[in-house]
Amino acid sequence: MKVPKVVDLQALQHFPDVLKKPDLHKLHVELFACLPSLPNMPDLHRLREELTNSLPSMDLLPSPSTWHIIEILTRCLPERLFHGNYTDVGVLLSMKEDVVNLIAPFMLTPITRWPFFAFLGGAMFCLFSSSTCHLLACHSERLSYIMLRLDYAGIAALISTSFYPTVYYSFMCNPFFCNLYLGFITLLGIGTMLVSLLPVFEKPEYRKFRASLFFGMGFSGIAPILHKLILFWNRPEALHTTGYELLMGLFYGIGTLIYATRVPERWMPGKFDIAGHSHQLFHLFVVAGAYTHYHAGLLYLRWRDQEGC
Ligand SMILES: [Zn+2]
Repeated sequence: MKVPKVVDLQALQHFPDVLKKPDLHKLHVELFACLPSLPNMPDLHRLREELTNSLPSMDLLPSPSTWHIIEILTRCLPERLFHGNYTDVGVLLSMKEDVVNLIAPFMLTPITRWPFFAFLGGAMFCLFSSSTCHLLACHSERLSYIMLRLDYAGIAALISTSFYPTVYYSFMCNPFFCNLYLGFITLLGIGTMLVSLLPVFEKPEYRKFRASLFFGMGFSGIAPILHKLILFWNRPEALHTTGYELLMGLFYGIGTLIYATRVPERWMPGKFDIAGHSHQLFHLFVVAGAYTHYHAGLLYLRWRDQEGC
C-alpha cells in the first residue's frame, strides 16, 4: 500500500481565496477531459463553500484506495491552473498538489475491491495451510495425512480465487458471463477442495485424477481470457493482463506437471528428500504464479478505476 500524501492544512487556509470562480470552471473542464467516465464528479462550488466554512475540522486525508486516483489527477491536470499573480513555479506546483489531494477523496467511489481481496484471501489461505502442513506434518503419520490434504485444498483455493479478479474486472459490464465464469470456477474449486480433503481420494490410484482436476482448473481459465481478448482486443490493458496470465498459467502448469510426474526424485529416489523434492518445486511455482497474478490484479484495478464499466 502506498501511504497517501497528507494535505498541508496551512496552505489550504488560502485555498478558497486562490480558487476563484473562473478557476473552478476551468478545473471542472480539466477534470472532465482527463476522466470522462467519472461516476461522481464532485460539486466543486459546494466543495469550496464547505472548505470556507469548516476548514480545519474537515477530514481531508485521502483514503488508501484513492492513491492512484491522486496519481491520475496529478498526471492530467495542467501545471498552470490558476490565473492569480503567482508566477513562482514551486508555488504553482504545490498548489496543484493541494488541489489534487483535496479533490481525490471526493472524486469517485473506486471500483469494488472484493474480487481482488478474494484472490489475496485465497493466496493467504494457501500459504498459511502450506506452512502449517509442512510444519506439523512430522508430528505423526495420522496428522501428516490430514495436513497434506489441507495443503492441496489451499492450492485449490488459490487457483480458483485467482480467477476472480480476471473474470470480474473483464466482464463487470456483462453480468451474465461474469456470473457464469465465476459460478463455474467456484464450483470447480469447491469440488477440487473436497477431493483433496476427503480421505476416499487419498489412495494412490486417484493421484492422476487429483492432478487432472488441478490441470482442469487451470485450463478452464482459457475460456474467459480468450473471451476478454475478443471483447477488448484493441485495449493495451487487456493484452498486458493476458501476458501476466499466460506467465501465471505457465508457472502453475509446470508446477502441476512436476507434482504429477514426481520429477526429479523419480530418477534418483532418496536423493531429494531434504532439498529439491518435486513437492518443494511445486510450491515454488505456485508462489511465482500467485505473484504474477497479483500484478495482473493491480493492472485490472487501475484500468477499471479509470474507466468504470
Ligand atoms: Zn506442500
